[in-house]
This record gives sequence, structure tokens and C-alpha cells, in this order.
Amino acid sequence: ASAHSEAGPSTNITVDSNVADQTSNVTTPPVPGPSAEDQSFVSRIMSDNPYFSAGAGLMGIGVVLTVFRRGLTLGTTFAQRRMLVTLEIPSKDRAYPWFLEWMAAQSASQVGKGKRPMGFRSHELAVETSYKQHENGSSEAVFNLVPGPGTHYFKYHGTWFQVKRERDAKLMDLHSGSPWETLTLTTLSAYRHLFSSLLTEARALAEASTEGKTVVYTAWGVEWRPFGKPRSRREMGSVVLAEGVSEKIENDLRSFLGRGKWYAERGIPYRRGYLLHGPPGSGKTSFIQALAGSLHYNICLLNLAERGLTDDKLNHLLGLVPERSFILLEDVDSAFSRRVQTSEDGYKSSVTFSGLLNALDGVASSEERIIFMTTNHYERLDPALIRPGRVDIHELLDDAAGEQAKRLFVKFYGNSTTVNPEGEEKGRILREGETPLTDEEVEALGNEVKQIVEDERSQGKTISMASLQGLFIRTGAKESLGGIRELCRSKGQEGV
Ligand code: ADP
Repeated sequence: ASAHSEAGPSTNITVDSNVADQTSNVTTPPVPGPSAEDQSFVSRIMSDNPYFSAGAGLMGIGVVLTVFRRGLTLGTTFAQRRMLVTLEIPSKDRAYPWFLEWMAAQSASQVGKGKRPMGFRSHELAVETSYKQHENGSSEAVFNLVPGPGTHYFKYHGTWFQVKRERDAKLMDLHSGSPWETLTLTTLSAYRHLFSSLLTEARALAEASTEGKTVVYTAWGVEWRPFGKPRSRREMGSVVLAEGVSEKIENDLRSFLGRGKWYAERGIPYRRGYLLHGPPGSGKTSFIQALAGSLHYNICLLNLAERGLTDDKLNHLLGLVPERSFILLEDVDSAFSRRVQTSEDGYKSSVTFSGLLNALDGVASSEERIIFMTTNHYERLDPALIRPGRVDIHELLDDAAGEQAKRLFVKFYGNSTTVNPEGEEKGRILREGETPLTDEEVEALGNEVKQIVEDERSQGKTISMASLQGLFIRTGAKESLGGIRELCRSKGQEGV
């Protein structure tokens, strides 16, 4: 408003506008550029020359296509975000092997029904071979076709799923030496609930394969991982210990397992430790396996001398033991003979003796903890390690006693049942040309075995149960008698 009240500026504005009006009326001087003639020349070339017009047309199509493609990519991404759902399973996850096994089982069942196996749609398969050795020596290999790295499709409950198995070229799993992988499952968002039912099914399938079996876990970095395939349970009867030993340990453990409440009420840590000591081949490990099988427990095997195991890791691992598992520390003497662990090449373990004691004592928790330790050299153990509270039961599993040898003999050559090398009780399989012995004959020979072993013992010579087992596998009943004498050695000489 002030500008308008002043004469100057307002006049200026008027003048300016006049100038503008005037200029608009004035015809602009010709700007140097293509004349009308030239323009018509260019357009003539453009329209006359088929190469020019085709090029322009192609360029137009290219632009349209690019725009369309970008739109499509954006649209797909948008649609994928809105309509698709993906699930990533890294190879370090437990569900990873379950899922692959599940897919293998799916394709196998489809072959059984006369359909094409699912995996073939992708042409990228991997094989997982399971190898079975039968008792009669024959073997059988089963090839499971699992999806290999690449993209695969399968149908589950009427819905299509895409599986992408990708391998990381740079990252390696240092434990297994296999490359890191991820599986990515994709399906329509509306069917996302199928992921959980699919994984549950895969898990059930994996569990069915461990049903009736003992899983042995080993430490993988800071977690427990199943080691190899689950093993068939070993029958308690297949491990022949000195009279009463097996029952004593089993009864103690069973009564411990029934007293969780008693421990909790008194605020005592709910844990029990067992130490089995004795010469090699006396059945320490086999007995622990059989006991785990009979109680439907699994085994967490820990090697204290393992490289890279530190006090912290040990503590962490013992706190993470899977449910219903024994912790088994084998050959504890070799790990801590003189409180410092040194391996043959001079490597010093980073688990310290006090670290082990701390881990064993742990934080007082109400969770049950069952620890088994084995050693071939009881005398080398530090008293602090095996004091009550850390080890509650010490048991010597020795070289064969007379009656123990007899029982093993009867198990092998008796008519009713016998044991095979894996310790499974099976009907007697006769060797070629072998005539079965009568019960009386077995009993009489068994008594001879007992006598031989006792005689040798009185001269300070013994035989391990493992050697006896080996002998019985190799020879017939009568020939084995002579073999026993040959195999007996002076105590201290290790011969398994
Ligand atoms: P340890 O742990 O005492 O060194 P293992 O349990 O590893 O001995 O036994 C080695 C082998 O000997 C196994 O095949 C096992 O079947 C056999 N064996 C050892 N002791 C016995 C036993 N007391 N009864 C039956 N088999 C035995």
C-alpha cells in the first residue's frame, strides 16, 4: 500500500507495464536458426528417410518398455510385499535339516504313489545318502533326493510354495566345513499359517526318526548339536558288568529322578554325579549308553581337551543341556591330570581346573543335572574333582571277573538270545557249519570259561570284557576257550 501512495514506484510500474505492452506488440527480430525452408528440409528427411522414422519409432517403444518394466518391477515388489510372505531358514537353525528331510520324504512318498518326485521340477537336486550295514554283512544305500541349491516349487495343502536354497560362497561353517546356506520359502500371504504347520510336520518327522533312539549331542561352539544319526538304544542286558553293579547305578539314578520335589523343598541343587573308572574296554561308555537308552535319555558328550573350549563356554554349555540328557565327560583324567591341560603338541587347553569345578557346581538351579565321568586312571584324579556333591557314586568297572566272563559267554553262545557287536539282543545266528549247543553244553563251557578267567586272575593276569567280546565274535564256542588264556595279560598292560 505504501508503494502505491508514493508516486515514483507506482509510475515506474505503469511505465514498465507499458514497456512490456509495447514490446509484446513489436515484432521480434528474426532469431538465427533454421529457416522455414530448413525446417521443412529436416522434416522432409525425417519423413522421407525410413531409417530415421524407424529409429524414432524404436526409441519410442524403448521408452515405453522401460517405463513399463519399471512399473512392473515396482508393481511386483509391491504385490510381493502385500501378497507374498517369505520365511527364511538359515542353515544354523535346527529347522534347516528337518525341512530338507521333510522335502526328501515328500518326494519319496510321491515316487511311491507313482507320481513324479517333487524335486525333479527344478532340475537342481542334491543327494543325501544314508548307508545301512546289515548284520549279515550286506549293506544298503538309500539315496534321498533333496532340493539342491536353486529354486524349487512344491505344493502343500493345495498351495504352491517356492523354495530357494542359496549357498553363501564366502562364508563357511568352520565346524562342518560346509558353506553357509539359507532356505527361503515363499507363498501367498493368505496361507502364511501353513508355514507353522509345515514346520511342525517336519519337526514331527525328524522326531519320529529319533523315537526309540539315543541322540548323542556334542558341543558346537556355544551350543549342543546332534552328532551323527541317532543310535538305536543299547539294551541294558547287552552290557555285562560285575554282579550287582549295573542294578546299583540304575536304582540310584531312578530314585534320584523321582526325588525332584524333595530336593526343591530343601533347596539342594538337583544334581547327581557318577564316576565310572577302570581299565579300557570294561564297558564304561557302553553302560552309560545303555542306561541312557533304558531311561529314554540322550547324551551330551563333552571333551574337555577340545581346542577352543574355554571356561566361559563350558559354563554356558552346561547351563544349556537339552532336556532329558546325561552330560558325559569322558577320560577326565587326561584333561586335568596335573591341573593344567597340555596336549601332545604342547597345546594348553583354555579350560582351567577351577573353571571346570565352577561349571560343575554351577549356579544352584532347580533343573536336574546328571553328570557321568569316566576315567581309566582313577588315581590321577584330583580329589577336589570327585568330592561328594560333584561325584556321588564312584564305581569300578574292572577287567572280566570269572562269573562276568561266563555270563558274556552264555549271552553269545546260548540258544535263547545273543548279542551282536552293537549290543542289540538278537536271535542266535549260527556260523557256517556250527551246530547249536544244548543249554547244558553252554552251561558247562561257561563254567570252564569262568574257571580259566579265575585261574588267570590268581596269577595276576586279566582280560578285558572288550577282548572277550572280540574273541567270541571271531571264534566258535569251543575254540574260544583256548583264546582266553592267550589274551590274558598282566594287569597294567593295556590290551583291548
Ligand atoms: P570303555 O568305555 O570302558 O573303554 P567301551 O564301553 O567303549 O569300554 O567298550 C568297548 C567295546 O567292548 C564295546 O563294543 C562293548 O560292547 C564291549 N564291552 C566292553 N565291556 C563290556 C561289557 N561289560 N559287556 C559287554 N560288552 C562290553
